[in-house]
Amino acid sequence: MSEANHLFGLIRQAMPAEPGSVRFAELEDGRHYTYQDVLDVSAWFANALVTLGVQPGDRVAVQVPKSIEALMLYLGAVRAGAVFLPLNTAYTDNELAYFMRDAEPALFVCAPERLDGLRAVAREAGVRRVETLDALTRDHSPDFADVPRAADDLATILYTSGTTGRSKGAMLTYGNLACNALVLAGHWRFTAKDVLIHALPIFHTHGLFVACNTVLMTGGSMIWLQRFDADAIIAAMPRATSMMGVPTFYTRLLADERLDAELTGKMRLFVSGSAPLSAETHKEWQVRTGHAILERYGMTETGMNTSNPYDGERRAGTVGMALPDVSLRICDPDTGVELAQGEIGVIEVKGPNVFTGYWRNPEKTAEEFRDDGYFITGDLAFIDADGYVSIVGRGKDLVISGGFNVYPAEVEAAIDALPGVAESAVIGVPHADFGEGVTAVVAPRAGAVLDEADIRTALEADLARYKLPKRVFIVDALPRNTMGKIQKTVLRETYKNAYSGDAA
Ligand code: AMP
Repeated sequence: MSEANHLFGLIRQAMPAEPGSVRFAELEDGRHYTYQDVLDVSAWFANALVTLGVQPGDRVAVQVPKSIEALMLYLGAVRAGAVFLPLNTAYTDNELAYFMRDAEPALFVCAPERLDGLRAVAREAGVRRVETLDALTRDHSPDFADVPRAADDLATILYTSGTTGRSKGAMLTYGNLACNALVLAGHWRFTAKDVLIHALPIFHTHGLFVACNTVLMTGGSMIWLQRFDADAIIAAMPRATSMMGVPTFYTRLLADERLDAELTGKMRLFVSGSAPLSAETHKEWQVRTGHAILERYGMTETGMNTSNPYDGERRAGTVGMALPDVSLRICDPDTGVELAQGEIGVIEVKGPNVFTGYWRNPEKTAEEFRDDGYFITGDLAFIDADGYVSIVGRGKDLVISGGFNVYPAEVEAAIDALPGVAESAVIGVPHADFGEGVTAVVAPRAGAVLDEADIRTALEADLARYKLPKRVFIVDALPRNTMGKIQKTVLRETYKNAYSGDAA
């Protein structure tokens, strides 16, 4: 690569010839952002970082509400060679204190209303500077010479959602981000003509890297929405070509009667990821709109690993095949031996998209890589005869009941297919006889009434006895995090006593 800055150099290459007259983003307040604005405002931020003493390789931690300026700060950090560290807006002061101590950022950027409180937290944690986004845009110089960065320089630290123990900082390089965006742009046929509906948060790999880098690398544009809002998305669709979302975007839109083939007529691509999209939702979307949602699979540590094909069959309930340049294998979780096609094991991946390790945590890094360089994802899956990967659940969500492995995704798919079911989660709960009892938590569709005994009876036809839920709890909605992932840890806690005193 000859670019001075490995990532921003590629973005410059994709820049329209007249950046001042080409739209980059349409904002909700009616403003338009051109590619010239991208260059100028990211330069303001890059200049501000340098003025504040941020050196290449220094961490810039950011916890701010989603805004186009926050995205420009990311680009400013890329241009200045800083390590961008986005943080979930939901984190409390105590959680932020941990990230500050762990990452030792040279600068922490926060929302104005949290400035005073966080300055105190920062002082305790040894972080010298805390500023707001506004304070960083006082220097309006649009000239900035991008700091040279090579493919293997550190670009970002993304803290994993940390469902068990402290969250770990995944270190991703300029090369990791650039290659994944280029692969996705090619695989999903993004061009300068694309208009992407962006309603995801930007503290996570999906909304920040998958969505924004892909658009920036192809000179396309976005309709920039603060958050998911069915009205705003429906209003945007006639002007858009594509959308990237988590499964709940699709289920919520399906619940809106305005969703039909006419509304989505100009769209060319709907992508889903970050959590499993049920086969039911995939099929319903196709019936209602004529579009097959393209499901892909990735994670914080690796960016995107697999995708359903653009041209070929987008198979419901699968995450497609390994992306170009990604090597993927299914292995025995205990021995690491590669398994035969069709067998269930842990997904392991290797490729230029895979992170370099956990920040200041060489022990964890060593635990999660095999000696031959493959990263152990922790996701259990099998590959069908046509090469499609189906995820059956996280390793830690596997239920072992009476010595048998029960894969939650299989039981959830059977429950989701029953009439009146909106969604379900299957968990293992301590059980005196079985070790764990298969337990289902099910939410009904609007207006439907579900009954535990009926669900269990209906499942008998589809599932072997040992897979049948011993209890089915009916709830209004399942607990999800901001990325739409069902929080099984919360459910396991809620139902942990479901079988205490159960002699069966
Ligand atoms: P995160 O690091 O927050 O992006 O979470 C990554 C995890 O989300 C993966 O390890 C999977 O368990 C899950 N995930 C992402 N995409 C999918 C998908 N399409 N289907 C099922 N699980 C997914």
